Amino acid sequence: MADAEVGPGRSRVPRPTGSEILIVGAGAAGLAAAWTLAERRKDSNCRIRVLEASDRIGGRMFCEEIGGFQVYGGASVIHESFASTRDLARQLEVELRRSPKTKGGQSYAGGRFWGMYVGGSLRQTLASMRTMLFSPQHTLLGSWEFLRLYGMLKKRATDLDFEDHTRILDLDTEETFAEFARANSLTRYLRQAGELDLNCFAAGSSDQVGAAYGMALLWLWTINPATRSYLPKQGIGALVKALGEACARFIRVSTPVERVILEDGTARGVITASGEKIEADAIICATTAPTAARILAPLPEKMRAVLERVSYSACLYVAVGLDENILAEGSHAALFPPESPTFLTMVANLASTTPDAAPRGKTLTHALVIDEHARALFAMDDDEIAGRVLDEMRRFFPALPQHPLFAKVYRWPEAICLAPGGMLRDVHDMRMRLPGRVRGLFLAGDYTHLPSLNGAIRSGIDAAEESLSYVASASVDGE
Ligand SMILES: Cc1cc2nc3c(=O)[nH]c(=O)nc-3n(C[C@H](O)[C@H](O)[C@H](O)COP(=O)(O)OP(=O)(O)OC[C@H]3O[C@@H](n4cnc5c(N)ncnc54)[C@H](O)[C@@H]3O)c2cc1C
Repeated sequence: MADAEVGPGRSRVPRPTGSEILIVGAGAAGLAAAWTLAERRKDSNCRIRVLEASDRIGGRMFCEEIGGFQVYGGASVIHESFASTRDLARQLEVELRRSPKTKGGQSYAGGRFWGMYVGGSLRQTLASMRTMLFSPQHTLLGSWEFLRLYGMLKKRATDLDFEDHTRILDLDTEETFAEFARANSLTRYLRQAGELDLNCFAAGSSDQVGAAYGMALLWLWTINPATRSYLPKQGIGALVKALGEACARFIRVSTPVERVILEDGTARGVITASGEKIEADAIICATTAPTAARILAPLPEKMRAVLERVSYSACLYVAVGLDENILAEGSHAALFPPESPTFLTMVANLASTTPDAAPRGKTLTHALVIDEHARALFAMDDDEIAGRVLDEMRRFFPALPQHPLFAKVYRWPEAICLAPGGMLRDVHDMRMRLPGRVRGLFLAGDYTHLPSLNGAIRSGIDAAEESLSYVASASVDGE
């Protein structure tokens, strides 16, 4: 690490000349902040330091190599409207591949899978029509409600955007998406498609997801027919690697921050879990909200209450390396609506979106388990979880071999921020008030924007720019 004055066993680190900006957390938000500061530091002459609790960077943007497979979990799909993420990838020379126009998936209902395809072959179009007419999950009223919701959201299409969450703050009432659906007679649509989509995109249910966030998620990921997404061919790991390389000299892993020192209404530094005190002129807290609430003390009570209201879904993935695809031809994922006789939510074949994630001729498959089913599995060890999930998958995909190339479990106890009703507005107001209440402290993380990889990255860029202006004005004041 370049920061030679920081080392194990030192209890207090003197502040070098020039301002220092310290970032807590090396997830997408923290890394985007570090990258932005590094890019601007030629003009600002400030020092950058990133402290990360775990022994690796990326947080919920995760990838590792297993036997030639680039296994990724957490953030995986970059939506067309992720302008900040796409721009960052461009600057880091990470090539993004646009998802194919043809999309397809299968949904389980009445004891069998039903296909739904966009832009596919004649056979697939006929299969989609059969699904619309005969699948027990689909009803005419459900489809009519879908069209009504489409009309409602289309009117706000320019505001429903992952890049600028401020445009939908007026939609962020105290309602959950389930309450919004009941109030607008959309419950059949919810049963037919909406609930399952929220299960897949938020790993949560309509009574956990806030109404505004639900509208944005559904519009941007499924309802808007023009939706396309982007990914590096090898998966999100390419972006983590590029960011990690660009910021390596600032990052110190395995260094959990125990407390951010807030004195006289100013952020002064941090205390790490090993008791080390590190001073800084500005601090960007880029952790999840519950961690921020814990390590930021004393924070004004109203601000703490906002952080404590932020909630996350829980899920787990089992990534399975296979010699052959086990899903139907042309189908990216097999989906299980909530009332299905299984604890699985989705089994996805990642070859269509990230062809280079698996070695040539092999397939990377993910099984997703969410919410209370995931929490029940968390109590078990990885081998037991993998065994149970593979057995369950075999009930629906008999072609799954007894011994796949590998099966690896990934646990996400804090998976996706659910933006419960009113959270977007409250967090936004809190961030606006923060400079007047606590000087030198900046919050970043997906929960501070529209929760997504892009929200995290945008928040990191914003926090970096705000902290640079702060240290610049503080040094002018001090002269
Ligand atoms: C299974 C899953 C699938 C997802 N799919 C998508 C998707 O397809 N598209 C999308 O846009 N988003 C997706 N997301 C959401 C996306 O991953 C997150 O919104 C984003 O990565 C959050 O980044 P962050 O930096 O805000 O938080 P995090 O990634 O959680 O980063 C916080 C960092 O802070 C560190 N930290 C915590 N406590 C401390 C401490 N005390 N001291 C120092 N460091 C600390 C953590 O170790 C972590 O590295 C998915 C998430 C999951 C879990």
